[in-house]
Amino acid sequence: MTHRKIIHIDLDAFYCAVEELRDPSLGGKAFAVGGQPDQRGVVSSCSYAARMYGVRSAMPTARALQLYPQLIIIRGHYRLYSSNSRRVMALLHNYSSLVEQISIDEAFLDVSENPESRGSIARAIQTSVNNELNLPCSLGISTNKLVAKIATDVGKAAIQTKGSPNAIQIVPPGEEAAFLAPLPVEMLWGVGPKTGTQLAKINVHKIGEIVGIPERTLVERFGKLGHSLYRRARGIDNREIVTTHIAKSISKETTFTRDINDEAKLIKHLERLSERVCKRLQKQQLAGTTVKLKLRWADFTTLTRQTTTEQPTNHSEDVLTEAKKLFIKNWMPGKPVRLLGVGVSGLGPPIRQLSLWESDSVLSRLERERQLRQALLSLREKFGERIIYWGTEPE
Ligand SMILES: [Mg+2]
Repeated sequence: MTHRKIIHIDLDAFYCAVEELRDPSLGGKAFAVGGQPDQRGVVSSCSYAARMYGVRSAMPTARALQLYPQLIIIRGHYRLYSSNSRRVMALLHNYSSLVEQISIDEAFLDVSENPESRGSIARAIQTSVNNELNLPCSLGISTNKLVAKIATDVGKAAIQTKGSPNAIQIVPPGEEAAFLAPLPVEMLWGVGPKTGTQLAKINVHKIGEIVGIPERTLVERFGKLGHSLYRRARGIDNREIVTTHIAKSISKETTFTRDINDEAKLIKHLERLSERVCKRLQKQQLAGTTVKLKLRWADFTTLTRQTTTEQPTNHSEDVLTEAKKLFIKNWMPGKPVRLLGVGVSGLGPPIRQLSLWESDSVLSRLERERQLRQALLSLREKFGERIIYWGTEPE
């Protein structure tokens, strides 16, 4: 039986690495890309030097500054991150046609066709990303996606320096289960804080301890997830590389059966369009930094305007706020509108979701909002678009 060669690659502190290319004087300094503290901004990415002080992604910027008052806060250049990301992905295609981009700075590659050893393929890729694009990156290599991704995380965690880890972690065929065994269960794909707590109750803390539990028992306790846990704990994962492209923008538009010149009605439509765009973004786990408005007048002339947000967002309140500003700036009261459209581009991953155990009051409020949004999303999934709206009633 031939084993697949699956590589997971993750750019190290990607946004910060790009910022260092833009301004080399940042090299080695404690800095973060994120929103301003007075605007309740959040850290999107932080340099390894900043991590030494406990600064983390998704942390409110104000909190990060408490931890390290000299922390340099940089406003993100999200378009620059997207263009660098595209260059990385293009480079990866030199090594395989089977490339699956999973976020702005992460991808899986299937390099099974390459006769070279796992180590030399990984080193070649890392060297070209380092030298041709001047970006640090870490790689995990295994026979499948599950173990390759965990290998990257383990490789990165093993190297604690002020600089980028640039790690390479290889898990040879047959050693998947042994590699996973000592790791905490939370590192396993599908084990969130809730499942983690349930496992801790039956005194299971390490992945290897799951292997000792019969599949039937796991299914009794965890339902369908039990089957997956049984397989994943053994490092089994047959998922193929899926070569899809991440959308460049997501937009929705409505042509009215009759032109509308009523401001309240038009804004209600903007609300609905923002909701639909954000629902799609959330489903694809994307967020964007550019909000677009499209307006078509009764005579078919069309106008598009766009604006850039402070941080990537996929929240309909944010998108609506920007779309509304653009609308008010460009609409002459009473002028009939034939078509309205809202779009979001400059897509990348959302600011990482906050973890449940962070007890800071700001965090718990944000977390509650996030949980509420998640609940709304799944309600709509079950019961359709019209079930529930933020604040206002459907017409
Ligand atoms: Mg990364």
